[in-house]
Order: sequence, then C-alpha cells, then structure tokens
Amino acid sequence: MFDVNEVRAQFPVFQQTLPKGYPVTFMDTGASAQKPRRTIEKEREVQETHYANAYRGVYRFGAQIDEELEATREAVRAFINAESTEQIAFTSGTTMSLNVIAFGWGMKHLREGDEILISIMEHHANFVPWQQVAKRTGAKLRFIELTENGQLDLSQLDHVLTERTKVVALTGMSNVLGTIVPVRELAEKAHEKGAIFVLDGAQSVPHLPTDVQADDVDFLAVSGHKLYGPTGIGILYGKRERLEECDPFVFGGHMIAEVDLLDSTWAHLPAKFEAGTIPIVQAISLGESISFLSELGMENCLAHEESLTKYAYDRLNEVPGMNILGPGRDQRGAILAFTIDGAHPEDLAQLLNRKGVFVRHGHHCTMPLHNHLGIPASVRASLGIYNTTDDIDRLIDAIEFARGRLRLV
Ligand code: PMP
Repeated sequence: MFDVNEVRAQFPVFQQTLPKGYPVTFMDTGASAQKPRRTIEKEREVQETHYANAYRGVYRFGAQIDEELEATREAVRAFINAESTEQIAFTSGTTMSLNVIAFGWGMKHLREGDEILISIMEHHANFVPWQQVAKRTGAKLRFIELTENGQLDLSQLDHVLTERTKVVALTGMSNVLGTIVPVRELAEKAHEKGAIFVLDGAQSVPHLPTDVQADDVDFLAVSGHKLYGPTGIGILYGKRERLEECDPFVFGGHMIAEVDLLDSTWAHLPAKFEAGTIPIVQAISLGESISFLSELGMENCLAHEESLTKYAYDRLNEVPGMNILGPGRDQRGAILAFTIDGAHPEDLAQLLNRKGVFVRHGHHCTMPLHNHLGIPASVRASLGIYNTTDDIDRLIDAIEFARGRLRLV
C-alpha cells in the first residue's frame, strides 16, 4: 500500500519549516523533482568512500564504481523493461538524449522530401533539435494538432502520418497540459508507415509505468532529475538496431574502439554514446531513486497521483475565473497548468510563494503550445509522489490569498 506520509518522510526537504511557519508545498516536480534521502546519502557515500573515474581503473575503487554504475544500468533496464543493459546509455538528460537521436540518427537517415512528425505541444527539447535537423537535411517538420480539450487530434493522423514520415517524435505526457499520449497505438501507426517512434519520456517515465518493449518504441529519452534523482544524468534507450545505426553525437575518450591519425572506430554499445567522463556519482545515485520507485511500485505511484490530480482538479475548478488547460479531470497526468482571469501568471506565482506554495509560471518551454492556446504564459502546479491533499488545500488557500491581493474578490 502507498502511504504518502511515509513516502514524504523519505524526502529531507519536507522536514523544514519555511519563514513564517509555512510548510514546503512543492508543486514544481514537472521541472525537477525532490530527492529521497537514500539518493542523497548514496551521493555522499560514493564521494566519501570509494570515488574514482569509471571504466578506467582496475584498482579497488575503480572496480566498485564500475560495478555500481552497471547496477544502475540494470535498475534502469528493469524499470523501463528494456531488453539489455547495452541499450541503456547514460547522457546528461532528456535534452541530450533527444539531440543524440535527432543528430545521430536523424542527420544520417533523413533526406529532402522525408517528414518528421511531432505535436504542437512538444517541449522545446523535442522541437528545436528536429527543426535544426529538418533545416540541415531538407526534411519537413509536420505537426499533430490538438483537439479542443488538449488531446492529440488523431482524426487528422492519416493526413500528417504518411509514407514520407520517417520519424514520429512525441512526448509521453505533456509538461503543460498533463495530456497522456497513447504511445503504443501511435508507435504501431508509425511503424505501419515505416517510421521510427521516438518517445520523450521526461514527464511520462516519472509518472507512468514504462515498458519500451510492449510499447515498441525505437528510442526513449529520460531525465534523472525528474525521476527523483540527481541533475546532470539522463538516459538514452534505443532498440539495438537503432542504436547501432545511430552515429555518436559527442566524440572523444571512451567512445572509441581504435583511434588512428585520421580516423577512428566506435566502441560497442552503450560506450559509443558515453564520450568523456560521465556524471559518475549522479548515475550511481540515480540507481537509488529508481530502486526507491520500483519498491513503491509505479502502479501505486500512479494511483496516488491520479487521485490527487482529481482532487486538485475539482478544487481548482471551484476558483472563480479559473481556466485549467488541457484534458478533463479523468484523462490527465499529475500536471495542472492554469490561468485565472485578470491575474498575471507571474504575480500569481509570486503571491503563492509568500504562502510557501512553489509553482512555476511562464511558457514552460512550450512556446508553440502557448501560441496555439493564445496565451503568453500560465501557472503550473505539477505534483509528485510526495504531495498530499493538504498540499492541494494550501494551494487553494494561497490562490484565495492571491486573488484578494490582486483585488479579484
Ligand atoms: N521534455 C519534456 C516533456 C520536459 O518536460 C522536459 C523538462 N521540462 C524536457 C523534455 C527537457 O528535460 P531536461 O531539461 O531535463 O533535458
């Protein structure tokens, strides 16, 4: 059973009281998640007791580091149900993983006349690399539009997904609308047309159970820091065939097999994608976060977040002038972005902060989506496994306070 108070107790950050006696009401997990104690302790333990560079030393510390890195790789493999640890490469995060895919695979395989299909709700990390690759290869970028309630408009799919499509790259969950994308169905449709399917898992992997084999995705990009792990570490997963046909994107030490004066050959998977010194301590500690989530069970985490999201949706909906972006209460992940008539999102975020309620404001790296919605910015409350209904009540109280200050009552 999932006991949110027990889960919350594992996160040291919540054990403090803010000035004026407010508890920490953290609602920016979509941007970056808080870290459990065991992850923080693991970072410290590695640095204090056996730190060394990775995959280089045969001495005691080096061997232990290598062993622990491989243990994380195995934890990630199991977490996303990948076939083998060779298909799990450490990168610096989702952005880097998507750049590796776009430039390593896209630049090599795309030609003029080919098409790349993304949606208009993609994060800039799954937008800008494809724009660049399209410009450089002559391929065309096409878009899946949204329905009125913020779902992908699949009725238009036959129009935009054609024999010319070579890549379909989508987020598993919108970082603004909370929309959950039917990955399995879309990967199947992409494959029917001969395209590869790239999953931006930055938001979906921390919130939904992930099975890359069942969903049949070609590539997956994940950020450790959104997965309750450290910053600077991320994951690139690919089908073996895809990773083998993908060029490396960063070149240097460790990723080579042979270096000659004028040319080089590449190391086996996944070293080919791990040039230089990887974030060793962060990668090892990410293993702790993943084990923590695995022990809780992603189904349980999801069930908790679903009920919390419904509660938050209903309570927010009672606020006068409230516009919650995206799908209805029953079809969304734990992200609630909104605007309130007459209130500037930045003012709202600042006033909520005064009550210890931490939300994000702005375009959340989705300018095309905000343009489509006809708004410059929104406020986003994004939830995680440690949030409680008390947090939601504090959010609502803080909004009432802000409405008062902004003379909206
Ligand atoms: N994709 C989505 C859907 C995201 O929400 C984010 C982070 N906000 C990213 C990609 C980029 O992740 P990172 O900054 O960790 O590379």
